Amino acid sequence: MYEIKELHKVYSQGEQQVTALSDVNLKLDETGFVAIVGESGSGKTTLLNILAGFDKTSCGTIYFQGNKLDINGENKHTSYYRDNVGFVFQEYNVINELTIEENVELPLNILDIDEKEKKRLVHASLEKVGLSELKTKKVGDLSGGQKQRVAIARAYVKNPKVILADEPTGNLDYDNSIRIFEMLSELSKSVLIIMVTHNKQLALSYADRIISLSDGKVVADKELRKEEVVLKLTNGQVEEYVEEYSQIINFVRNNTGDKFELIIEKSITSKKNEIEEKIERKHYRERELSFREKFRISNKVLAKRRIRQIISIGIFAITTLLLLVGFNLFFYDEDTVVKRYLEDNNKKELFVFKKVASLNGDSDENEIYVSKDMKDSLNKICQDGVFFEYRSALLSKNGMLSSGIEEQDFSYVIADVLVFSEAALLDRYSITEIKSNEIIITEELAKKINIHRDSIGKEFYLDEQKVVLREIVCGLEDAVFVSPEYIEIIKKMDNCISINGNFLMSKSLFEYAHNMISITTDETVAKLITEKSQVVLSTSFAEGMDDVIGKTFYLKDLYQDAYKDSFSEYMNLYDYLGTKVSVVGVADFDGDVCVSEEVFTEIKNDYYDVFVYNKIGIYQERWDDIVKSIHHNKMRVDDEKLNDVYDIVDMKPTLLKYIALALILMIVLTVFIMISIIGYSIEDNSRIIGILKSLGISTSDIKKIFIIQPIIIIAISFVLALVALIVLVNYINAEYMKQNAGVVLNIIHVNPISVIVALILAFVIGTITVILPLKEMDKKTIVETLRN
Ligand code: ADP
Ligand code: MG
Repeated sequence: MYEIKELHKVYSQGEQQVTALSDVNLKLDETGFVAIVGESGSGKTTLLNILAGFDKTSCGTIYFQGNKLDINGENKHTSYYRDNVGFVFQEYNVINELTIEENVELPLNILDIDEKEKKRLVHASLEKVGLSELKTKKVGDLSGGQKQRVAIARAYVKNPKVILADEPTGNLDYDNSIRIFEMLSELSKSVLIIMVTHNKQLALSYADRIISLSDGKVVADKELRKEEVVLKLTNGQVEEYVEEYSQIINFVRNNTGDKFELIIEKSITSKKNEIEEKIERKHYRERELSFREKFRISNKVLAKRRIRQIISIGIFAITTLLLLVGFNLFFYDEDTVVKRYLEDNNKKELFVFKKVASLNGDSDENEIYVSKDMKDSLNKICQDGVFFEYRSALLSKNGMLSSGIEEQDFSYVIADVLVFSEAALLDRYSITEIKSNEIIITEELAKKINIHRDSIGKEFYLDEQKVVLREIVCGLEDAVFVSPEYIEIIKKMDNCISINGNFLMSKSLFEYAHNMISITTDETVAKLITEKSQVVLSTSFAEGMDDVIGKTFYLKDLYQDAYKDSFSEYMNLYDYLGTKVSVVGVADFDGDVCVSEEVFTEIKNDYYDVFVYNKIGIYQERWDDIVKSIHHNKMRVDDEKLNDVYDIVDMKPTLLKYIALALILMIVLTVFIMISIIGYSIEDNSRIIGILKSLGISTSDIKKIFIIQPIIIIAISFVLALVALIVLVNYINAEYMKQNAGVVLNIIHVNPISVIVALILAFVIGTITVILPLKEMDKKTIVETLRN
């Protein structure tokens, strides 16, 4: 069976080198009972472990049935071991938490074998060791002798070619030892038994061959041909045969007394009934341990530390809850909240506003800068209607979109008038088309400017254009409806712009100039300006500034990161004038700052399409797209019920920072605690790992067994955390609605994306905590694992 050539094994312990085996050469038959004897420390275990593939050799070769064994190769021994070898340890190394049957079944579970055949083999094997009656008993409750019989059944069940046994009787009393010897001797008819033992007399009685080791060397190797000895003995022909064994026989007789006869008798009967039970050696393909098996082992063997598990679940659940809260906030979807609010409360119209921060911290919520594109997109989405309420336009004569209808002094209201520029709203009044010179105003506006229905058809002046008042329509807002062509006319009017906004400047200039600065290119004033970087300030603007003429101011770039987008909506003079601006004069004109023609043209080109509104109102049946578009354009719904929603959005960055901080702490803590808990579990169960490995179960299978518990812990924690989150969210929403009676507003909601992301992250954290300690498992050989 085996041919061992020049086998050496040296252990290095730090500096020291211990030679455990030195030049061992052996040939072992296909069957039979080989006993290995020798002083403690003589290398017996080392030899057995190397034969099993549990340990590596230093040098030498082993042939198994003619094939060279690659015992030192990574995991190569597993298949050799799995298919051919059964191992019996001195310490039994059975799994106490499993039943006898489950223990014996283990080596079969990694073979592709059907359930019936498996039961048959287990039963047959248990019959051999006389334990078939007890098979459902837990191994932990058995005596040492019984445990060792379970171990033998387990080694034998897969029909190995060799059973290696390392002092299997070392922990047993005499009677039990005999039984074990008997059993192994019985098995040795079909299997090669190699057994390390201290019990010389029993070895002599049962073994066919005794190999003695001393200091790692084979010092004696005797074939006993026991049955012949025994037969001769019983025939009274002792003298003939015993010459060389006389000493042995006497030794046996002296030491075993009556039992000697018994042993002899048994030996004879077994030899006489030599109907060799040749068990058909089927070769089963290997397979992975089934999930059921893994779960059984994980559940029965590893899941014992309830307190540990509860602590793990608690910690993990808290971390997961934090993750869920964090991601829920991170993915806080104001659109969904707003949309549901609008739908649940059956809102059909709303106003939007845009929050604009300014340099001095005030925010004027009544200014919405809308580009032409944005306006178009709003109009497109809002099929049912959208209206824009002008406050002023950037580009118009003398700073205002409409300077007034001359005959009736319109100008005091016109700045607050809604100008509907699209036909969509006209549908509301069943007016299909406005001619280019026509305007339509609302009753409300008519009342304000004292126009009555008899003025319909009369001419007015609007921005120096002659227009005809076509109709006065009902409507609660001040509004003028004009034709699209008229809008084009307005756009073409240039030469003076007014800019509402900040475009500052050095600190000193900023102190003078407040929010509003307008620009003029008044011709007489403009003559003062000869260079691009020069400006003339208006008297009113320069009021309070001493000797401002001739001074140079530094303009700040308002688009710097430092301003955090605060001025992204504003025009930035810096872009047009560069860093320095020198004041060449102060003059009396409308507006605040006069710039050169060149700069003015540039500004005009850039800002032609930007409009400033007080409000944008929207009538709508369905809100999905609108709400998205509002959000997209950084606008908000003007509804005080939604203030809290927007507060959450505003506080989000700050809150997230704290949550992230807490999360990092918790994750570090969790990973740390989980790693140590799993580490302990692996450490605790190192023996189990060794046993499973020694049964030929692959490391990857074993890892999976160890992963099951953490996965269960993570899963339970996750469910707990999710339930907690849902309860929390419902509670907050209910409280919120209680305080705002009559309003249907779920201010927060559980976002599925956040749940998925949190789940993934929890899984990643879980994986890290599992994988790190499990990696350690790879590094140890079976011998090292079992030694603990
Ligand atoms: P036996 O089983 O005959 O008592 P072993 O094979 O266990 O002997 O040990 C043989 C020698 O190798 C002993 O000197 C022992 O101290 C040494 N040895 C065994 N295992 C190791 C190890 N892992 N590291 C260092 N020395 C070892
Ligand atoms: Mg030993």
